Amino acid sequence: MSPYPRTRLRRLRENAALREALRENSLETRRLVMPVFVIPGRGKEETDPRLPGIIRASADRIPYLVERALGVGVISFLLFGVPGKKSPRGEVALSGENPLPAALKGVKQRFPETVLAADVCLCSFTESGHCGVLVEGRVDNDRTLEILSAYAVLAAESGADVVAPSAMMDGMVQIIREALDERGLGGTLIMPYSAKFASSLYAPFREAASSAPVFGDRRGYQLPTANGREALRELLADEEEGADILMIKPALPYLDLLSEARRRTLLPLAAYHVSGEYAMVKAAAREGHLEEMEVAEELFLSLFRAGADLVITYHALEVAEWRARQ
Ligand SMILES: [Zn+2]
Repeated sequence: MSPYPRTRLRRLRENAALREALRENSLETRRLVMPVFVIPGRGKEETDPRLPGIIRASADRIPYLVERALGVGVISFLLFGVPGKKSPRGEVALSGENPLPAALKGVKQRFPETVLAADVCLCSFTESGHCGVLVEGRVDNDRTLEILSAYAVLAAESGADVVAPSAMMDGMVQIIREALDERGLGGTLIMPYSAKFASSLYAPFREAASSAPVFGDRRGYQLPTANGREALRELLADEEEGADILMIKPALPYLDLLSEARRRTLLPLAAYHVSGEYAMVKAAAREGHLEEMEVAEELFLSLFRAGADLVITYHALEVAEWRARQ
């Protein structure tokens, strides 16, 4: 490339038509995944001050939320079951106390055109608030896998197209793949939370999903925030075990990993823009420091540019409604 004055990069941006023609990435609502919290009961809808704009609803109300999102182009949903009761080992996830299966059935029946993903973890169901079964005060990997795989099968049988195990247990993708295949659920995708960091950015979510650990923290199984190579090993191990989509969580502080993963794997990649990332934008917008929707668009474009195919975000519905108005 010959230097200035022959090369004039500004030529590429001279007018709106050129900028539009040469745009490398777009914010498309079909690539946003909306998290949905399912609570027990009937006819219930509630908001949470820690996650402004997010509605938690009972299973019978979830199809209305989904309908609203479908109307503005959101087609993918990640559902979380929030039970009325907890149990020591979290088996309550497999019982009628867990409102998730009913929500999956209700949505799939009315809207078969959706992509329905189910979060599969035990932290909302165990009395300890940990993601697995405790043995002598420590989360036991292999005992946790038994309940996780049973939960994944239940979610798939209830209508989930995708199961999303988030417990960060070794071998969880392989065990779940085997369990699904044995039950004739070979068509169900697995989207593990592959590189899930022990992040401080989950705080608002833990309120919404009622999943804060009662003691200790999750550093014995989630990734150290300082480690990129170790995270890459987790991603590649999940691919080996049979994952269909790999996920990185949180999103923006781990753009380096997203970009590296894009180079190392041909699988689709999902980035989870978590509750703390969402809350920061919301709070700054509330204070009048920035234009919320424009900032959200810029943040999500950075994720697509780095290599994400899907962005899971609490902003999904609001951004889609804003895009639909334009
Ligand atoms: Zn968990």
